[in-house]
Amino acid sequence: MALSTGTSSRHKSKALLLLVEDNMINAATMSHSLRLYGYEVLHASNGHEGLDMTRRHHPDLIIMDIQLPHMDGLEVTRKIRSKPESQHIPIIALTAIAMPGDRERCLEAGADEYLSKPVGIKELVRVIENVLEEKAASRAV
Ligand code: MN
Repeated sequence: MALSTGTSSRHKSKALLLLVEDNMINAATMSHSLRLYGYEVLHASNGHEGLDMTRRHHPDLIIMDIQLPHMDGLEVTRKIRSKPESQHIPIIALTAIAMPGDRERCLEAGADEYLSKPVGIKELVRVIENVLEEKAASRAV
């Protein structure tokens, strides 16, 4: 794979993503695909682990499954947003069963974007890049 040096692809080769996903097959598939795009990927299999890894690794972006055991992704998102050290980390919420009002609930909890599964890798990468660029732009002001 050729190394890209363009500004627009800088995030792709550098960004550290945290994937919070309880389904191991989904997690393995998504992590593998995202790594092929050049991202570094950490995986947490439940909300508590997700919070812990957010605190310890301070990822550039979090991909949050909403249907998680014990503590759902909305609650995890709210907790991440409530802490000063993690409140600015972009979060993309993923839901398995698209329900009316999902998008609003996710955005209200503090997610930057919302996608319903199944999510194609190209679509996911497009959204990741958009969110990272928006964050970079808002920090540059
Ligand atoms: Mn799930």
